[in-house]
This record gives sequence, C-alpha cells and structure tokens, in this order.
Amino acid sequence: MPHVTHVTAPLPSGSGAADPGAERRVPTLADVVGVLEHLYDPAWARDWDRVGLVCGDPAAPVRRVMLAVDPAASVVEDALDWHADLLLTHHPLLLRGVHSVAATSAKGRIVHQLVRAGCALYTAHTNADVAVPGVSDALARVMGLTDLRPLLPDLDPAGQPAGGRGLGRIGRLAAPTTLREFAMLVAEVLPASAQGVRIAGDPGCVIESVAVSGGAGDDLLAAARGAGVDVFVTADLRHHPAGELREEVGEAPPFLIDVSHWSSEWPWLAGVANRLEGELEAAGSPVEVQVSTRCTDPWTFRVPSPGGIVR
Ligand SMILES: [Zn+2]
Repeated sequence: MPHVTHVTAPLPSGSGAADPGAERRVPTLADVVGVLEHLYDPAWARDWDRVGLVCGDPAAPVRRVMLAVDPAASVVEDALDWHADLLLTHHPLLLRGVHSVAATSAKGRIVHQLVRAGCALYTAHTNADVAVPGVSDALARVMGLTDLRPLLPDLDPAGQPAGGRGLGRIGRLAAPTTLREFAMLVAEVLPASAQGVRIAGDPGCVIESVAVSGGAGDDLLAAARGAGVDVFVTADLRHHPAGELREEVGEAPPFLIDVSHWSSEWPWLAGVANRLEGELEAAGSPVEVQVSTRCTDPWTFRVPSPGGIVR
C-alpha cells in the first residue's frame, strides 16, 4: 500500500506567478533550501535543536521532494522507492552529537541509504514550530480554531513579541461545545494512531477556548493554565506533570487532551507542500512534492482494559 499522498498546490497568482513563456528549469538543492529557510529560518530554532541540511549536495538537481514527520527507515524506503531527491522531515535524524555514521546503527544505515541514492535530508524542527504559519497553526486549523496567537510568544532582544512567532497556539472554537464532543472532533480530524485520544476532565464540561501544541507539550502545561484556556491539546503528556496540574485545578479548566505525537504534527506537512510547490512554481523551477502518510509513532497497537471505565 502506498504511504504517500499527492498534495496539489494552488497555482500562484499576481506578480509572483511564473511567466508561461519563461524558461523553466530544475531547481538545485540550494534553491529548495533557500525557499525552506525563508519559510523556516534556522535562526528561529531553539538553542538545543539541530536543523537544516543533514546530507546532500547543494548543487544537485531536485525534482521530487517527500515530506514526513520522522526520518524513520520505513519513510526513507518510501522516499527512495519514489526516487525522491530530497526528504524533508520535522524531526532531526542526528539531534545529539555522533562520532560515527557507520552502517552498523539504524541512523548510520539511513545516512548510507540516502547518500548512496543521492537523496538529501533536511530538517525543519523547532524553527517550524515557532514559525507563522507553523506546526501548531496547522494543528489548530484542523480543529477549526480561529483568532490564533502564540501560547508562549518568542521575544526579540528588546523583550517585545517577535513577529507573532512562538510555541503553541491559543484559539477559539466557532461555538462552545462539550469536552466530549470536542475530543471526538479531535479524534476525527487527526490521522489515526494506535494511541487514540486521551482526555482528562469531565466530558460534559463546556469549552470554548483551546490551546494546542504539536509534539510533546509537558513544558507548556503551566503556560496553558496561565492563559486561562478551557482545554489544552498536545502529545506525550506524562503522569506526574498532567496529574499535578489536574490536582491543582480540581474540577476546573484547563482540561487536557493527549493525542499521538505523530498525529499532532502531521497536519503541518500539507501546508509545507503547498508553500514549497507554490514558491518554486512561481520561480519557474517546479518540483513534485508528496506527503508521507506512513504513521511513524512507535506504538503499533493498543489493548483496551476489559474492566476499564468508558464514560
Ligand atoms: Zn515532534
């Protein structure tokens, strides 16, 4: 079964549109990286992060680009089967320092496969999280949230909000709904995962303001509480941080919705595909872009507790 889907980009209009008579050329990796770094400036990444080109020759031509959340072996295999020239992933392959990329480790094998096939690997991670639009904008939009603003704004050296960027997003639903109904919507609009959707709070409570953060959101629990939102949607919430927040607030908001990490970040890829296709088309150097639909969550199945309580 193919694990990719084609995303059709709207043709750019206005002064930036390509002249139909103009010569079209195949972009180089440097051209494509230039567009990506305009969308997701590496300078926006957190200090601990490692973003940008992992492997690849900037002078090499790029005709096909695959987008995915994780540089997992299965994704790399799909990319190479499709003859991708560039694989763009959200998560870094090599976040921590390495002294070897020998093909004796999983990561080393991936580097070898990519280099051998002439496929570049590029990472846009926390710089894509804070960008506008970024990873959490996409997550908020699929849930129908509007009036989006950062949950934890980036500040410039003068302490002022930096270009509307920041981690997480706060928004509003079009109309108040119950926590149960909203959780069902979240489960419906996000790609399926073995984990499903876990909720902390009374299902009958009415909610309207929502904070979201794609990926692991433990660090933003206090910000979500401080922002006074009704519910916080994120991934990878752990027992102690989540339990302690719920103990502090009692029956009150914020309620918590925990989704799979991969599901929370995957919606971002469609927007990247559209922007990348649109900008390169406008520059007269189009590329084919595909979004990988392969679920790369490590969890592959779930057994419901037979005596569990389902409310
Ligand atoms: Zn992530």
